[in-house]
Amino acid sequence: MLILTSLVELRHYRRALTGAFGLVPTMGYLHEGHLSLVRRAKTECAHVGVSIFVNPTQFGPAEDLSKYPRDLERDVQLLTAAGADVVWTPPPEEVYPLNFQTWIMLEEVTKPLEGKARPGHFRGVATVVAKLFNAFTPDKAYFGQKDAQQAVVIQRMARDLNFPVDVIICPTVREPDGLALSSRNVYLNPAERHAATVLHRALSAAKAQYEAGERDAEILRATLSSTLATEPLVREEYVSVADKETLAELTLVEHGALLSMAVRVGKARLIDNFLV
Ligand code: AMP
Repeated sequence: MLILTSLVELRHYRRALTGAFGLVPTMGYLHEGHLSLVRRAKTECAHVGVSIFVNPTQFGPAEDLSKYPRDLERDVQLLTAAGADVVWTPPPEEVYPLNFQTWIMLEEVTKPLEGKARPGHFRGVATVVAKLFNAFTPDKAYFGQKDAQQAVVIQRMARDLNFPVDVIICPTVREPDGLALSSRNVYLNPAERHAATVLHRALSAAKAQYEAGERDAEILRATLSSTLATEPLVREEYVSVADKETLAELTLVEHGALLSMAVRVGKARLIDNFLV
């Protein structure tokens, strides 16, 4: 596997390739969730590239940018084993040169949920993903359902700006007890790790209620909240039952919904979701 840091080298490498190119953007500290995207890309593309870049512009001033976990050596081993062809790990100044001032901002879909809780987050995400699309010129790009609003934002941006890339959303990979894999799970101590299973329990309870015929979104939100409240170590930030495309909160669930939530557990902020 080739390891590149400069944009010029990446472009040079990419120009020489023929056949479908698949991109998996990541912030590193890889786990099975990331690797599932690489494996899916391998089945659909002749070449697979991965970016590892802890994107400073998608972190708020009080967030965990400086503490975000990193282990490039281990990431490279995992990506080699998973069959990636190239990894790009640019330094921040390669992505954001001096006097950088061009941003991608989406309107309605970035207002609620994570966009509301993390002002500026999606400006950073959309901008870096647009830059990754321009750097790698992938035919397909792979993202996880774990970050549901991000998936909606990237699909919207690719369509709105005519990026010639298929955006493919892959299922959330979970621990056996239901906790969604996340690089941020390392922040959890054993008691918090145990408590964090309540996210999956809450989503499962609301999904079961929906499948039993409940269509009142407020009742489903109440189920999410009351289940989260059974864990004293977990503090709810928001729960949501929203339209899958607009992400607007629903009153009545008529054509399915995105059930989602964000919580604090100790030092970690965790998100999870189900599509129903
Ligand atoms: P991150 O490194 O957290 O920016 O994640 C990089 C990509 O991996 C994003 O598209 C995430 O949605 C995806 N991802 C993260 N966790 C999971 C998971 N548990 N299952 C599937 N995809 C995931």
